[in-house]
Amino acid sequence: MRPAPLRLLLIASASLSIPLTNAQSLFAQKDEPPLHKTTYYLHGRIYTNDPKQPWAAAMAIRDEKLLCVGTIAQILLECGGAEAENVVQLNERFVMPGFNDAHVHVGGAARDKLSVVLNGATSVADIQKLVKEAAAKRKPGEWILGSGWDQTRWTDQKLPSRLQLDEAAPANPVYLEHVSGHIAVVSSLALKHAEITKDTPDPAGGQIERFPDGEPTGVLKEQPATEMVWQRIPDPSAAERRRGVELVLEELARNGVTSVQDFSEWEDFLVYTNLKEEKKLTVRITEWLPFMLSTDELQNRRAQGGTTDPWLRTGALKGFLDGALGTRTAALLEPYSDDPSTSGIPRTDPEKLRVMAIERDKLGFQLAFHAIGDKANRLALDTFESVARVNPPRDRRERIEHAQVVAPQDMPRFGVLHVVASVQPSHEANDSRWAEQRLGPERSKGAYAWNSLQNAGAKLAFGTDYDVEPVNPLRGLYACVTREAIDGGPAGGWQPQEKLPLQDCIRAYTSGSAYAEFMDGKKGELKVGEFADFVILSRDLTKASPKEFLTTDVLETVVGGRTVYQKN
Ligand SMILES: [Zn+2]
Repeated sequence: MRPAPLRLLLIASASLSIPLTNAQSLFAQKDEPPLHKTTYYLHGRIYTNDPKQPWAAAMAIRDEKLLCVGTIAQILLECGGAEAENVVQLNERFVMPGFNDAHVHVGGAARDKLSVVLNGATSVADIQKLVKEAAAKRKPGEWILGSGWDQTRWTDQKLPSRLQLDEAAPANPVYLEHVSGHIAVVSSLALKHAEITKDTPDPAGGQIERFPDGEPTGVLKEQPATEMVWQRIPDPSAAERRRGVELVLEELARNGVTSVQDFSEWEDFLVYTNLKEEKKLTVRITEWLPFMLSTDELQNRRAQGGTTDPWLRTGALKGFLDGALGTRTAALLEPYSDDPSTSGIPRTDPEKLRVMAIERDKLGFQLAFHAIGDKANRLALDTFESVARVNPPRDRRERIEHAQVVAPQDMPRFGVLHVVASVQPSHEANDSRWAEQRLGPERSKGAYAWNSLQNAGAKLAFGTDYDVEPVNPLRGLYACVTREAIDGGPAGGWQPQEKLPLQDCIRAYTSGSAYAEFMDGKKGELKVGEFADFVILSRDLTKASPKEFLTTDVLETVVGGRTVYQKN
């Protein structure tokens, strides 16, 4: 029997909504690219992020892209005539463009995913159980890494030993870091890899704990001792990388992230490439390359990774101009307010940077500099200025990653030079507790200054620096509109003049991030011709309070018209 045509369904749906099973049959096909089929999403509150037409009730999707967006009548008129099986009833749920996280580290996150989380362990037996489970998933000889154990939570409060780890994973070397980071317990195989025996002397500043007979217990105290084993742990294998990356992809989809701009290792990029070829990529990835690599190697990687595939391609060159504010390694123009003996640590020589930047720009690479302190931000801007003076004009979209502290006189230069400020609102939500101590009241006015940057003409792109911060974009939107910590405060927000209206926050997290990777007009808005990358949320963000953002669920994530996540 032929399914009823769309027109009939539309009429019917006014009084009768389609049973959920109908929608579910659609999702059952989620592994197949919905090529040459039109799918209709109807009766939604669709926030398009297109300033010309911010709201729609329906959209039609075909071949990964938006074919029609508008009212139900419009969809019927322009894209009508479809078959019933391709209709999804949104039931007035809130839809918006998928989040594009402009700054992530998928590879690092993947590594963390593979390690065993021991924070909840309340006994050695718990640890043994978790290690045993990890061993079951690995081949003999593969390392098991874990962290977070804390013997003060156990009844006997005794440190574990290698013998207990050997019992749980006799064929795998095991390295488990204490919650403090200062101690590790390792298995006998791990000690063997590091050639630690009863005859090995304690390293200076560290201790190899021993049984009464002098044999090591497996507990290593302080970094000089833990390092002896840590440095023997090999880089993850391709299979391990892939396993970790797959877990990260799941997390991204669960959080409504449909695009990421990533800085990981090249081996990770090769994993993404395999996943893409198998059509298993569930997020679009633009991969940065290390600025410091030779121009030959950069060109090789660009040729190998490509620059045009909307699912996976190489992008900007990432360079580091300073450290971080928390550790007082961000380069400031004046000393730290809470430590006048230092003004941070610049990481590059300005002249060398300038020469390298000009050379790489000439080859057509986009430049992205990590700059946190006002001195590093100035250096980035000076460098971009030199590049523009020496090389012919073009649409460069140079980026400053973080742009956390910017001197007031440097703000307008973002506009003049068309620089993208790639910032992480959730960093502000964390750092506001101590940033003012580091910077003092005056400099704090130019810190995490999203509104000032935007007013100065900077293009904003939002991200998280995942997995430094959780990847959940709703935390970022919350910080953007409140400038309060996730658990609240300071009341009214820190430096509240730098808050942005929700629509600007959303733009920075979608079309703004797309601009930063030269993909504006292709994604970031729910607009005809753009990729069908969107999320369905449990709340209408335009009606919810910022606190409610934090408990809003992603119900469904769609990338290129394909459902990659659906909440049960
Ligand atoms: Zn980063």
